[in-house]
Amino acid sequence: MKKTAVMLLTLLVAIAGMSLPIWVAMEESQRQAYTAESAHALGYARDVVLRGNETGRQLQTAVAQLERHAEAPCSPQSIDDMRRLDLGSTYIQAIGYVEGDRMLCSSIAGAAAVLELGAPDYAGASGALVRTDVRFPFAPQQSFVVIQSGRFAGILHSELAIDTARSEPDVSLALVSLDYPAPLSVRGRIDPGWVARLGRASEAVFEEGGNVVAVARSDRYRTAGIAAVPVHYLRTRMEHLALRLIPAGLAAGIVLTLAVLYFVRQQMALPSAVRSALRRRELFLEYQPVVDLRSGAWIGVEALVRWRRPTGEVVPPDLFIPIAEQNAMIVLLTRQVLEQVCRDTGFYLQLHPEFHIGINVAPADFHSPEFVADLHEALRRTGAQPASLILEVTERGLLDPVVARETTGVLRRHGFALAIDDFGTGYSSLSYLESLELDYLKIDRSFIEAIGTGAPTSQVVGHIIRMANDLGLRMIAEGVESHAQADFLRKQGVQYAQGWLFGRPVAFAEIVRRMEEMAENAALSAAV
Ligand code: C2E
Ligand code: CA
Ligand code: CA
Repeated sequence: MKKTAVMLLTLLVAIAGMSLPIWVAMEESQRQAYTAESAHALGYARDVVLRGNETGRQLQTAVAQLERHAEAPCSPQSIDDMRRLDLGSTYIQAIGYVEGDRMLCSSIAGAAAVLELGAPDYAGASGALVRTDVRFPFAPQQSFVVIQSGRFAGILHSELAIDTARSEPDVSLALVSLDYPAPLSVRGRIDPGWVARLGRASEAVFEEGGNVVAVARSDRYRTAGIAAVPVHYLRTRMEHLALRLIPAGLAAGIVLTLAVLYFVRQQMALPSAVRSALRRRELFLEYQPVVDLRSGAWIGVEALVRWRRPTGEVVPPDLFIPIAEQNAMIVLLTRQVLEQVCRDTGFYLQLHPEFHIGINVAPADFHSPEFVADLHEALRRTGAQPASLILEVTERGLLDPVVARETTGVLRRHGFALAIDDFGTGYSSLSYLESLELDYLKIDRSFIEAIGTGAPTSQVVGHIIRMANDLGLRMIAEGVESHAQADFLRKQGVQYAQGWLFGRPVAFAEIVRRMEEMAENAALSAAV
């Protein structure tokens, strides 16, 4: 059942693993395509605004120059000036003098013909009068915009401002006034209402009616440029991007899925791998010295289990102890550790019964009825004394007060020493610990690390030390890496310590060799 659930979950993860990157790729190509298409549309809208601005500028300059003919606006000199200005300007088609709704003389018709303009459509903010759709007899098909400033007016080709984007004829463009609903100039299908989408902003981009629409406000006149790019451009661009991104997404999905499948397979295979490790006796022990902080002498070691896989890879206990615990293999594992400890250290313990071996005991061992028998069986074969073993049990193993009290009592009566391991990481209260028979308290490495750092946990070690003193427990500090930590602990009255400062976990033969070396050195310096 559990296996089916895991398989089902894996399948779901695999499907998600495949589809997620593709979905991300699609979303990404859509986002990138939209960004590009927005920039595309905005480019056109800005171009329209620039052309509108330039038209206005040319018109203003021209009118300013004609002002000096105000007295005789249709004189030959004035008309000459009009023609000269007309020729010199790129945007103005013609320029002329207006009275009422009629252009009395102009660069195009001189003083010979009067051009009917019709009434202005609106007056701009600057007072300019704007006619948006004027027809002349000389070009009846053509619509012109006439902008009048004072008495002079420019005739503008209504398509000049939008004479851009020729290569994309289905792009719609318009130059609009912010004060009048009909566009000044328009190509294609533009909704002048889109200008309202600007709000207070100077530019806006949105998708509407199958278009990506950009609106840009002029910083000089009360006008705005609008460009509407059909969505099919977006789609084409998106398809191009997707064509590139989706294969990458798919590849990422496959890699991800394979990785997940591999990991799950490994995880599912781990319990049976641990089981066969126990069967094939692939576990071995390393020993880390425990030192007396005052004398520096090595008073014992902690046995730490490792797993050498058939490939030669050495697996640390954090990776397989939890699996052994979850799969009812820990009792068997501990039994093998005990046997191994006795095989490695029995000869030494016979000669040095005061030497200690710390053994890590899992909560399940602690609750196992065979545990005491296993301990005795191991000792019997080596002739070592129970007092040489320190059984290290975590706060987790002492959770049930009844079992904890009974088991600690039994073990103590059999002469074993007991240590509470990783102390400080659980929630045991002082009064609870007081009710148990314990010998040592091992201060967890995390608190030793915090010493002298100013971190909030750096205060905790002081409390732990006081608590241990109140309980009459001897202390072993774990993970001591620096002299500063060792000095601090020594000053605080902590008796023992282990850590890389003194020695890393090694084979027991190496421990013995180093202790002999230290003894020789001590003898030598005593003799000198
Ligand atoms: P632990 O009982 O707290 O063991 C101390 C761990 O700290 C060991 O890691 C040791 O190698 C490491 N250590 C020692 N000194 C230093 C130091 O100065 N700095 C640092 N950074 N680390 C240091 P290891 O051997 O990987 O063991 C991890 C844990 O696995 C042990 O934590 C213990 O809970 C568990 N374990 C190890 N052996 C056994 C075993 O035989 N049976 C059971 N049930 N658990 C075991
Ligand atoms: Ca001209
Ligand atoms: Ca330990």
